Amino acid sequence: MTRGYLIDMDGVIYRGSELIEGADRFINELIRQRVPFLFLTNNSQRTRRDVATKLQRMGIPVTDKNIFTCADATAQFLAKQKPNGTAYVIGEGGLTQALHSVGYSIVDHDPDYVVVGEGRTFNMEIIENAVRMIMNGAKLIATNIDPNCPTPHGLRPGCGAIVAMLEKATGFDAFSVGKPSPIMMRAARKEMDLTAGQTTMIGDTMETDILGGTLMGYRTILVLSGGTRREDLLKYAYRPDMIVNSVADLVETELRAQDAA
Ligand SMILES: [Mg+2]
Repeated sequence: MTRGYLIDMDGVIYRGSELIEGADRFINELIRQRVPFLFLTNNSQRTRRDVATKLQRMGIPVTDKNIFTCADATAQFLAKQKPNGTAYVIGEGGLTQALHSVGYSIVDHDPDYVVVGEGRTFNMEIIENAVRMIMNGAKLIATNIDPNCPTPHGLRPGCGAIVAMLEKATGFDAFSVGKPSPIMMRAARKEMDLTAGQTTMIGDTMETDILGGTLMGYRTILVLSGGTRREDLLKYAYRPDMIVNSVADLVETELRAQDAA
């Protein structure tokens, strides 16, 4: 039976710059068995190639073709909505590169869209510009609305925190493209050329990975190697199809089964 995996990275493959034990075994086994997979991240900061290099350095031999970021999803979405449009970007290289690659221009006045991603280079002047552009009719697009992201030193504010500032100041709601939006979840599956019934989403976050997979009718696997504990599940109206401690456990349960199939 053909099937494939959409796999979150932070909390699933690594934490910060540290590989989660056994994650490389799982991915290497997917590669060996030629099972299709795509890494799916709500971090728009790095390009596909940058992400691939980070994984390669951890002993996971993937290329940029194995990576799909919310910046890619956002760029594809905007290119369909308004071909060759313009964007004012609050974010970094991963996002500007994705937009350029679909024919978008980055501008600093009169944009079609204000597009917000991850980044460490933002200040009040940039926020003021964005607020004025939105009040003048530019549409507010969020690459994702994750409120925060875990780091080895604790939480840092996520893209959603910056978006919330713009929403509060303008009174306009952002349109978000990243997980759990069906826009990103569907676009990623299409890259693998699989049907919904053939697709499994693996992630550590209920609000993005598991909700996104559930909305699309994909099979979902929650790993407990990231931000979610087993007892947290009581808070949610939806649940994953399977729960494992880490992707290392899936080498036995998923890939042996697939061998036999
Ligand atoms: Mg994660």
